[in-house]
Amino acid sequence: MSNQLPFLPFALPEIGEEEIAEVVDTLRSGWLTTGPKAKRFEVEFAAFLGDPALHCMGVNSATAGLHLALEALGIGPGDEVITTTHTFTATAEVVRYLGADTVLVDIDPDTLCIDVSAAEAAITPRTKAIIPVHFGGLAADMQSLLALAERCGLKIVEDAAHALPATSGGRVIGTLGSDITVFSFYANKTITTGEGGMVVTRDSALAERMKVMRLHGINRDAFDRFRSKAPSWYYEVIAPGFKYNLTDIAAAIGLVQLTKLRRFLERRQYLAARYHDALRSLPLILPANPSNGDVHAWHLYVIRLASVAKVTRDELIQALSERGIGTSVHYIPLHRQPYWRDRYRLAPEMFPHSDAAYQSMVSIPLFTAMTDGDQDRVIAALHEALG
Ligand SMILES: *Cc1c(COP(=O)(O)O)cnc(C)c1O
Repeated sequence: MSNQLPFLPFALPEIGEEEIAEVVDTLRSGWLTTGPKAKRFEVEFAAFLGDPALHCMGVNSATAGLHLALEALGIGPGDEVITTTHTFTATAEVVRYLGADTVLVDIDPDTLCIDVSAAEAAITPRTKAIIPVHFGGLAADMQSLLALAERCGLKIVEDAAHALPATSGGRVIGTLGSDITVFSFYANKTITTGEGGMVVTRDSALAERMKVMRLHGINRDAFDRFRSKAPSWYYEVIAPGFKYNLTDIAAAIGLVQLTKLRRFLERRQYLAARYHDALRSLPLILPANPSNGDVHAWHLYVIRLASVAKVTRDELIQALSERGIGTSVHYIPLHRQPYWRDRYRLAPEMFPHSDAAYQSMVSIPLFTAMTDGDQDRVIAALHEALG
């Protein structure tokens, strides 16, 4: 390689000595699985969202959380759940776990979030829920989605894997009027626990069901009420539940990451604004800013080649790679994945906006630990490749 600069990945977690110390403390404590730190993480997460009355439940992935959410809502065989084709397969697969059908729809070409009119057009008598994805950290059009759900008697489960923290209409994602919201703490998300997620709801009955199903269908409250009489080894299984609990080791990382989240957000906002300024003159479609002062979590910075650009998406990725810069593509739309394509006989022409975005898009490095100098390298490489 001609340059001696180290490879710049497209994402990296920022883990400091504080996270390491907190994990060591957990290891020394003897309590490794779900315990006091998982509980504290849930309490502090609710406080971060600004509503201590929210039910927050730690889980071992957002995928697990989405599964629990749909299960609690009673989604099952014969039901349909609408979501965007422009997402990670986790959003859609959880519907299939429950034997229901996933109905994929196209995106809005500006925001890359679910097209609400396409969602509305896909509603049938079997439709039970919609799962919007806040693509890249920009909230989907929640006002329209919530109105649609209200009008048609549908449930809303937000896939907020990218949206910690983000706002919609001035309200924090996780505190809106949807039924359940699910966050991810996967290694490349805005905060991480290695693997993990958080399920959030205002509804006590849904929270209770998800709590029980999170850990083998064991109902603790059934005997907590009679704790004085029941021996400590006693428990009752009321359903064939799952093993989706968050460990205290993971929660230890999350507790510290949460204290840094404000700073992380500011850094992401700063880097995004810097990209906006530096890339404005290039033949690119830059990511949309939120309307009316809403907060964008800037989990991703996704550029799209304008039609006048003289290179293809793959050539651009190659040019950046030759300069030691990592990229990704979010996403190969689900309608192009063999399972989804074949199962529902999908074709690219059915999703023109998602498909066009896919063919022109590149996610460029955006993470809190990257320096301004790292970013300058990306900017210079893009100017060289596209200028
Ligand atoms: C990361 C991600 C998920 C899955 O999160 P996990 O915590 O890895 O299960 C789901 N949906 C979207 C949009 C994601 O980006």
